[in-house]
Amino acid sequence: MKIQIMGIGFDNVTMDEALSRASDLLASPEPSYCVTPNSEIVYVAMEDEKLRDILNSADLVLPDGGGVVLASRILKTPLKQKVAGVDFAAELLGILAREKKTLYLLGAKPGIAELAAQKMLLLQPELQICGMHDGYFKEDREVLDLINAQAPDVLFVCLGAPRQERFMSEHLHDLKVRLMIGLGGSLDSFAGTVKRAPKWMIRLNLEWLYRLIKEPRRFGRMLRLPKFLFAVIQKRLHGGRT
Ligand code: UDP
Repeated sequence: MKIQIMGIGFDNVTMDEALSRASDLLASPEPSYCVTPNSEIVYVAMEDEKLRDILNSADLVLPDGGGVVLASRILKTPLKQKVAGVDFAAELLGILAREKKTLYLLGAKPGIAELAAQKMLLLQPELQICGMHDGYFKEDREVLDLINAQAPDVLFVCLGAPRQERFMSEHLHDLKVRLMIGLGGSLDSFAGTVKRAPKWMIRLNLEWLYRLIKEPRRFGRMLRLPKFLFAVIQKRLHGGRT
């Protein structure tokens, strides 16, 4: 079942349900893509119809941030839980290793995907990583050819939002991939070059504050969170735009 939050239909799933949906998508002959929007991106999509369509056309839409879950509660249509993209990806590695599915890593600065792959293999020694490429390419064509040469089951697309969502939607049918997942800065997180917040901060939904302290340049982008919540409260009070 989808829950509408400011124009985006989120899948109301627990982590386990999200993983089971991913397994189903992997078993299907049709190519598919999964998005993991946080409130910043939902806020951008409120003014960008094309991006909204791309997000709503995804086969799986997971609530990446606490802001989205909070919005769902304010709107009285609570989501079961936050399913952070990076946690979802980490859990999925186990399934891929068990089912002998191949994984290709796309995105982040040169060298980061290699480092992330090493860390992933420490977590899941049986994992089959069949290729990787950094996210700083000009022409998509060359990268598409490299990915297609490997025809991976799963592609982690970590180009930052909204570039990764546009990439997945545009190339859904010219890539020989079963399931693509847009995962923002997750490769940096796996590689350990960008640390995640301590567990207590994640639990208190303060991961955004940790990132702000670590990367103050994100301040402008992060202002979208209070603006988003303001729009959500307005909607709750006055109705109107979904
Ligand atoms: N990135 C990329 N190509 C680009 C721009 C960004 O591969 O042209 C990568 C960047 O190196 C980082 C990720 O995309 O690994 C975006 O991370 P960020 O934390 O900004 O994204 P979020 O998770 O907040 O969407």
